[in-house]
Amino acid sequence: MGKNYFKYYRKMIEKVAIIGAGISGLSFGYQLIKNNHHNFTIYESTSRCGGVISTHSDSKYLYEEGPNTFSISDKRTLQMINDLNLEIVYPLDSSKARYILRNNEPKNIPNSFFSFLTSDFISLTTKFKILKEVFNRKKPLNETESIYDFFERRFNKEFVEYLVNPFIAGTFSGNPKTLSIKHAFPKMYDFENEYKSITKGFIKSKKPPNQIKRSIISFKSGMEELIISLSKLLEKQICLNSKVISIDNVDSKFLLKISINNEIITRVYDKVVVTIPIHKLNELKLTDQDSNDLKNNIVIDYPPLSTITLSYKKKDIPLPINGFGLLVPEIEKKNILGVLYLSSMFDYRAPKDETLFTVFIGGSRQPSLASLSKKEIIKLVKTDLKSIYGIINQPVYVEHKYWPQSIPQYSLDYQNHLNSLKKIERNLNGLTFTGNYIGGISLENNILNAMKSANKLINYNYE
Ligand SMILES: Cc1cc2nc3c(=O)[nH]c(=O)nc-3n(C[C@H](O)[C@H](O)[C@H](O)COP(=O)(O)OP(=O)(O)OC[C@H]3O[C@@H](n4cnc5c(N)ncnc54)[C@H](O)[C@@H]3O)c2cc1C
Repeated sequence: MGKNYFKYYRKMIEKVAIIGAGISGLSFGYQLIKNNHHNFTIYESTSRCGGVISTHSDSKYLYEEGPNTFSISDKRTLQMINDLNLEIVYPLDSSKARYILRNNEPKNIPNSFFSFLTSDFISLTTKFKILKEVFNRKKPLNETESIYDFFERRFNKEFVEYLVNPFIAGTFSGNPKTLSIKHAFPKMYDFENEYKSITKGFIKSKKPPNQIKRSIISFKSGMEELIISLSKLLEKQICLNSKVISIDNVDSKFLLKISINNEIITRVYDKVVVTIPIHKLNELKLTDQDSNDLKNNIVIDYPPLSTITLSYKKKDIPLPINGFGLLVPEIEKKNILGVLYLSSMFDYRAPKDETLFTVFIGGSRQPSLASLSKKEIIKLVKTDLKSIYGIINQPVYVEHKYWPQSIPQYSLDYQNHLNSLKKIERNLNGLTFTGNYIGGISLENNILNAMKSANKLINYNYE
């Protein structure tokens, strides 16, 4: 016990620098504090915490400019929310229905396996393919299989084009032909390897010990509430307007150069945690030449994405729009990737007589559309809203948000880039990467991965 105590104590006094105050950096800080480790600083280059999480709120509308769907299925995420004394708001019953566009018509997606098989959303052939998937022994053609090839091999083309393709557009803003099944959906990949079937994997795999029933949640003032609470908890540790510009490793310590209001300061740390997006890594110099070269060769695509949030008077929409949202398969040849029905998702998002929704455009499917002017994008969006919902009247509110680099794509060559990140971690013992480009893009993935890395770093269990 004595020996362990000193090992633990030494870990407790180690000074840690966290670079970036998005959800990854803040969750890392939360986990350190939870383990009674207060000796750390979070450097954030901008004037606010949260990274891509940002809620728009005015006297009439409340909506997310970044992530909308906070899906939780793990006790540890819920525990964090409870520790922060946050009050969860759950989606309204009116948001239960989800739609996929087929033949220019929003089709309700059945929400159980049985109702799915009895619905007319997919053909009889595809239903048989689903039922026969457990017997499918077709092998992948190569190790780096795409999401498209994986699901086409296990099911068929219709399954990919009408279910997988729109789902990937709605999550990664991505293209299933260029994403790696192994890295983007490791669970599916593992199911096939272990059980020879995805269906069997779902039925037979053991429930992870921390798993809880999946639910989509938000907070009364939107996702920003999570960020405000984490920022309050970490207020002594957070330094805003502080851009880390270089990391030097000397005698098993790290020297960080930080630009604070145009002044450069140097600080010494025992451990460094990097949570900044890959596309920002080129602005961060590593003085270890090998690591710096490796870092400069890491290329992970973050396709551009635009979101248009519109509100219409209910009387100006031919048919009521209720549900969670609509996903648009590429084969439907529309401008838009999907629509989230914000006012039927959560209460108090728009005046009662209005319908508020956010439309997504661009991503890997049509990157050039995302960077058009606001006027041009709105025109394209309105064309699709007219053709899908018959909306011809003018909205009472329109706002545009452009994401020049939205979500990291776990592409077919992703393993090479992951290897480079791991090699840098080995070169610079004590430096860790955690962020949405490792281990999943969703908010819950980011939170859990940051917690896991924090536990590893402070070696809490004396492992
Ligand atoms: C438009 C959009 C919609 C999304 N929708 C969803 C959704 O509905 N559900 C979901 O689960 N996920 C969604 N995601 C994904 C999810 O939001 C992200 O994966 C997650 O928020 C990323 O958090 P992060 O902390 O890893 O990175 P970031 O949020 O990018 O944070 C990194 C931080 O590092 C800072 N930084 C950069 N360089 C430096 C430097 N040199 N020094 C100091 N600080 C620096 C940045 O300013 C930033 O604050 C969405 C993402 C986008 C962009």
